[in-house]
Amino acid sequence: MNSFVKKILIVEDEEKIASVVKSFLESKGFIAIVAENGKKALELFDKESIALVLLDLMLPEISGEDVCRTLRRKSKVPIIILTAKSDEADMLQGLGIGADDYITKPFSLKALYARIEAVLRRSVDDLPSLLTKKAFNNGHLTIDYESYYVTSAGEEVKLTPNEYKLLVALTRYPNKVFTRDELIASAFGTDFEGYDRTIDSHIKNLRQKIEVDPKNPCYVRTIHGVGYKFGGE
Ligand code: CA
Repeated sequence: MNSFVKKILIVEDEEKIASVVKSFLESKGFIAIVAENGKKALELFDKESIALVLLDLMLPEISGEDVCRTLRRKSKVPIIILTAKSDEADMLQGLGIGADDYITKPFSLKALYARIEAVLRRSVDDLPSLLTKKAFNNGHLTIDYESYYVTSAGEEVKLTPNEYKLLVALTRYPNKVFTRDELIASAFGTDFEGYDRTIDSHIKNLRQKIEVDPKNPCYVRTIHGVGYKFGGE
């Protein structure tokens, strides 16, 4: 993780929710500031260096949607929408207002934190300084992150989107041991539908496609009792 403290802007007119989320984020080591309406949110955003915005949609005066569009016009800051209705949440992606993710109220702080971590991680992954192509084990496995092109032993490997996302998540942090939950959050953000164990079957299929010996994997290693780790060099 970065050594500097990240500042999160909470845009929420319900005082109780705002203060609970603020204390929680502070307990996790963030700086949290609250804007109780859209106008204040835009003012604070211009004044402060904000790493992430939590944005309620139903706000007085300027709506959350308009705040989101305005922010998006000037910044790539990660935005997570806090929404009260699940059908509203379903509509969000269609609205294309530029949010990175959303969470439906009432939400647990744990779930909110998982989304924040995933969104912040993705925004770090977007940095152009990252290599766009990597080769492992003397070129046995190659991944071109720009064209989604993977080869094993010189042959193109056709991965499903889920398998590809898992491989990318693992290779981005080659020394990290992921629990299933962490791997799900890192690979899929909140798009993942299914149980923790579903990930095991994606891993199994991924191994069939990239490993020399899928029963004795050298890339996607199982760390017993914990989860998975990338073992390529
Ligand atoms: Ca509200």
